[in-house]
Amino acid sequence: MRSMTCSPDTHTSFTSKTAQWQDGWLQSAQHLPSPNCGLRPAGMPIDLVVVHSISLPPGEYGTGCVQQLFTNQLNWEAHPYFQGIRGLEVSAHFFIERSGTVWQFVSCDARAWHAGKSQWQGRENCNDYSIGIELEGLEGLGFEASQYQALIALCQEVAAHYRIAHIAGHEHIAPGRKYDPGAGFDWVQLQRGLAALPVQFAGQGKA
Ligand SMILES: [Zn+2]
Repeated sequence: MRSMTCSPDTHTSFTSKTAQWQDGWLQSAQHLPSPNCGLRPAGMPIDLVVVHSISLPPGEYGTGCVQQLFTNQLNWEAHPYFQGIRGLEVSAHFFIERSGTVWQFVSCDARAWHAGKSQWQGRENCNDYSIGIELEGLEGLGFEASQYQALIALCQEVAAHYRIAHIAGHEHIAPGRKYDPGAGFDWVQLQRGLAALPVQFAGQGKA
């Protein structure tokens, strides 16, 4: 059952030629609706993709804890680390597991809670106008080939439906406060995979 709390009255996306999208939900993703979302400001263009990394507990993969966190189902008692994030209400639009499996928690037409205090090219509150993609991983370490493949395919789908102009890391929109996806993320690989798109990259290695 999809949460109705952040269903916009009007679609902010433009018409797609494919049936891949329905009300901001990518049909090929695993859907797990989060209550941690809201409406985007009226008329706000969605033109930024923000790349993050997360794993729960940190460095442990495939636990299901990230999906639980993003849907307010995490048991705070299950691990000592969780005590430090107790009560945290966050979400991203997408989460890509180490296997490359793609999960979606919030309609891309709605505002997910992934960026926090942030700014990109003079515009504050990146959650208003961005799509957040979390990669399962640990800041500073590397990511799997299957994750790059999934991320590239996901960005292509997103860019086919929204007018994406920029792709940045959380570390670029909240410098000094956030450090993900970190030095282990290969921006060049992403740029090569998306070379056909008219998109600016914040990460190093821009072609
Ligand atoms: Zn982040």
